[in-house]
Amino acid sequence: EAHLAQIERLEPTLHAFITVAPELARRQARAADDRLARGEGDLLTGIPVALKDVLCTVDAPTTAGSRILQGFRSPYDATVVARLRAQDAVFVGKTNTDEFAMGSSTENSAYGPTRNPWDPDRVPGGSSGGSAAAVAAGEAMVALGSDTGGSIRQPAGFCGIVGLKPTYGRVSRYGLVAFASSLDQIGPFGRTVADVAMLLQVIAGHDPADSTSVPLPVPDYRAALTGDIRGLRIGIPAEYRVPGMDQAVERVIEDALALLQELGAELVPVSLPHTEYALATYYIIAPSEASANLARYDGVKYGLSLPGETLLERYLRTRGEGFGPEVKRRIMLGTYALSAGYYDAYYVKAQKVRTLIKRDFDEAFARVDVIAAPTSPTVAFHLGERTADPLQMYLSDVFTIPANMAGLPAIAVPCGFAHALPVSLQFMGRPFDEPTLLRVAHAYE
Ligand code: GLN
Repeated sequence: EAHLAQIERLEPTLHAFITVAPELARRQARAADDRLARGEGDLLTGIPVALKDVLCTVDAPTTAGSRILQGFRSPYDATVVARLRAQDAVFVGKTNTDEFAMGSSTENSAYGPTRNPWDPDRVPGGSSGGSAAAVAAGEAMVALGSDTGGSIRQPAGFCGIVGLKPTYGRVSRYGLVAFASSLDQIGPFGRTVADVAMLLQVIAGHDPADSTSVPLPVPDYRAALTGDIRGLRIGIPAEYRVPGMDQAVERVIEDALALLQELGAELVPVSLPHTEYALATYYIIAPSEASANLARYDGVKYGLSLPGETLLERYLRTRGEGFGPEVKRRIMLGTYALSAGYYDAYYVKAQKVRTLIKRDFDEAFARVDVIAAPTSPTVAFHLGERTADPLQMYLSDVFTIPANMAGLPAIAVPCGFAHALPVSLQFMGRPFDEPTLLRVAHAYE
């Protein structure tokens, strides 16, 4: 009830949700109360959770922030949703997102933008900006988002909360509306590292319905929260100093690194020389995969369906009116990069560079336990500030994209303020070493 009241109070300003489902939430809460009364509560029984609206749910619409999914009802729950439901977690609603998770500000939603709880004239980041804003503003205790190039970590950073992108394959993507399948991962948001660890505990693990989910045992993530990072080797990559980096943000990051040293960690300079190609490579690979994934929205199978004299006309009208400008831009980029004659020059080349980026990390992780870097080069920017210039918008993710390219886990944790707005520190880890990320983030917070 407290979270629903907060939603009622703040949604007119924030618009963190596309769908709020108070009656469903109350019904789930009653089931949770009964279960707790029987002494059978699980980790997240009765905990109010917000779900990014790219996660399929049987009992509420799933829009992916797009007009093209208008009227769509999923016949099944995403695996992460089913796992939460099995514990009687309480879903307060489906959160706003850039259309098909394409964006860094939640301004590319067909349902209008979300605003940053710290300053409503600013964006919450994106694409999981709704989930980040909801948790930061106390509209939900925790939330799920998806991260293809930074969409959990960057909004967590802009909203001053914790966000984690798990290792590729750690969490099932079954029932996640696909953006770029080789990069997408679902992950948790929370106000503390412990909350994030608990949510990860419930969603992680193998799922036969997702062939890319990995059949490894799930460690006890809460056991990792020891508070002790003495002797931990933290890599500081030389390449994460970019032009356009806000000086005040840089100073806050420097202080954070000094504090890690005080806590007993050792800072080790490392080099990730192919970092400078990560953004360009991402903008070949992600749109290529997106153009293939989005071919399924044909006006027949899902959601919006606009009539036409011929089948082709139906396709053209539905897709022409159903997709927004950023999605169309990505489909054009991807279709071009995959077309005969350009495939080798762009797509295959990008895959080769991706391997080089991954090798940089392998070499660095032979010497260090985690790598620390800023989450974003700036604090939250103003609404409208970057919408006219897609390249400026894409630059928001320079520090987050490499972890997706290499499939690595990464966590964003609040580390101070610049310009009276939250600044965020990012830790990247070895594949499946979420425990070390949680340990260092928890010791720091
Ligand atoms: N901002 C990046 C993009 O627009 C990443 C989005 C994401 O992680 N979903 O593609």
